[in-house]
Amino acid sequence: MSKKQKKMLTRIIIAAVMMIGLNFVPVDGIVRFGLYLVPYLIIGYDILKKAFKGILNRQVFDENFLMAVATLGAIAVAIYENGDYTEAIAVMLFYQIGEFFQSYAVGKSRKNISDLMDIRPDYANIERNGSLEKVDPDEVEIGTVIVVQPGEKVPIDGIVVEGNSSLNTSALTGESLPREVNLGEEVISGCINMTGVLKIQTTKEFGESTVSKILELVENSSSRKSRSEDFISKFAKYYTPAVCYSAVALAVLPPLVRMFGMGLSPDWSIWIYRALTFLVISCPCALVISIPLSFFAGIGGASKEGILVKGSNYLETLSKTKYVVFDKTGTLTQGVFEVNGIHHNKIKNEELLEYAALAESASSHPISKSLQRAYGKELDRSRVSDIKEISGNGVIANVDGHIVAAGNNKLMKHLNISYIDCHSVGTIIHMAIDGTYAGHIVISDVIKPHSKDAITALKQAGVEKTVMLTGDTKKVANQVAGELGIDTVYSELLPGDKVSKVEELLEEKTKRSKLAFVGDGINDAPVLSRADIGIAMGAMGSDAAIEAADVVLMDDDPMKIAKAIKISRKCIRIVYQNIVFALGIKLICLVLGAIGIANMWLAIFADVGVMIIAILNAIRALFVKRL
Ligand code: ADP
Ligand code: MG
Repeated sequence: MSKKQKKMLTRIIIAAVMMIGLNFVPVDGIVRFGLYLVPYLIIGYDILKKAFKGILNRQVFDENFLMAVATLGAIAVAIYENGDYTEAIAVMLFYQIGEFFQSYAVGKSRKNISDLMDIRPDYANIERNGSLEKVDPDEVEIGTVIVVQPGEKVPIDGIVVEGNSSLNTSALTGESLPREVNLGEEVISGCINMTGVLKIQTTKEFGESTVSKILELVENSSSRKSRSEDFISKFAKYYTPAVCYSAVALAVLPPLVRMFGMGLSPDWSIWIYRALTFLVISCPCALVISIPLSFFAGIGGASKEGILVKGSNYLETLSKTKYVVFDKTGTLTQGVFEVNGIHHNKIKNEELLEYAALAESASSHPISKSLQRAYGKELDRSRVSDIKEISGNGVIANVDGHIVAAGNNKLMKHLNISYIDCHSVGTIIHMAIDGTYAGHIVISDVIKPHSKDAITALKQAGVEKTVMLTGDTKKVANQVAGELGIDTVYSELLPGDKVSKVEELLEEKTKRSKLAFVGDGINDAPVLSRADIGIAMGAMGSDAAIEAADVVLMDDDPMKIAKAIKISRKCIRIVYQNIVFALGIKLICLVLGAIGIANMWLAIFADVGVMIIAILNAIRALFVKRL
């Protein structure tokens, strides 16, 4: 509990004890008034102050104003009727109990979320003259070797240059199994080193490292408001003044009608009291608090599972997703190609592969990385120049003074080189050296272990259509789609064709249902931003993808898409439950208050009760069922 919360709790207890105790003190008149004023001011002075400030700032209508007017009014009525002051104090008291509970709940869920996101490293270890020195991660330059001991967080992305260990990645991916890392492997910041000492050569600056990117995303996520949140803040803007004017009407009109219309006594105090009750009832706090809190909790719950949602608005869109469009390579497949064969080549296999790897040495395409891996030896990049990558086609580069082209049949056609088709199913990399065909390399990719289940889970979650887009050949595309049970496939697409296909699909679906595109950002970043919602593979995906996407899956597991949709639906359901519940109870109480059945006690109970239930309901969004 914070200092502020402790102070509030003390005020609540003192005011409550005094309020009850004063009922047994037999004094009257001005003395009684003075005595009751003490607990009232103890519990309510800050509300009165805020209400007064609000009036000075010309922002009159807020809940402080409602509470101040209602309680001061109740005191005035009590003086006039020589009645009970307890009610005014009680209203303030319960209102403050509600506020206290709310700040506690919000604080708690914020803490929960920041605990989850407790991945910010405080230092990096650098070895200097044989001893370790702790430095600010911000000051570590690219290429520095840092030391991460067991129990420490990896502060910066890099490559292991010494040692091996297992890493706990659960804060990043939600995956509880530790990940083994060995020499030469990439590690991302934010993981916790568990067993061995690792020496890591950094490949990024701290600010560009995974951990910084994630924290940035989470910190900014609440600034993108959903439509429900916008609705609530607009609603509160009109609602509170409307309530205040209605209260004035309720206080004034019936007595006037009684007096002049019916010749009865006006009963001013009865109607003023009803109007004050009306004000207490109408306080919109439950909604104003619980809706942002629900979204906040939903985003927190998702990030616990390794799903980063960049804003509440995306949670809302995600819940309406009916079309899911996938990129193939790196999204449904691992993007780690194996060489299956080298055909029709005049030079040696090894040599052809060397040319391919060199020509591909600057590209981050999964195919390029796989060819480099297949070649296996150190690449001397000084042998390569004039590299040109044609997205969706391949690369052309100058290797040892020869013009080497590596890519698909589109590239060969484009260069006017006749090529030989391959009969095996696989991705074919045709090679040409100095304008003559030099054979082709057949490579194939492996489907991710969860891809098939992911498609099934999406169908179960009510997704109507699954589509796969790929730049790969028809044969490979159909094989993958068939195996996974994808509804529609479009193959041999250039990056631009992917955008137009998604645009067609956007036209085809109804307005209310949304289209999600899932990709790794390599040759598909424009599609990620064009779709209603872009979902990127975070671990393997490019930085461009993580920028362009609205949702990032930290561990590249397509299973998480269905999970993200489920989380979003639960969150939205909670939001609607709270809206309907809070407004419903308010409406009933307002009617009861206006006709004189509900008194101020009931009003404040209803208000605080609704708020507490709505907050508890909102916090439910933080908890995600394991799938
Ligand atoms: P996908 O839609 O499967 O992610 P891309 O659009 O990235 O595929 O690429 C489509 C096709 O273009 C690949 O299957 C490959 O034939 C060719 N290609 C793209 N980039 C390269 C490259 N760097 N080297 C060789 N071929 C490439
Ligand atoms: Mg791709």
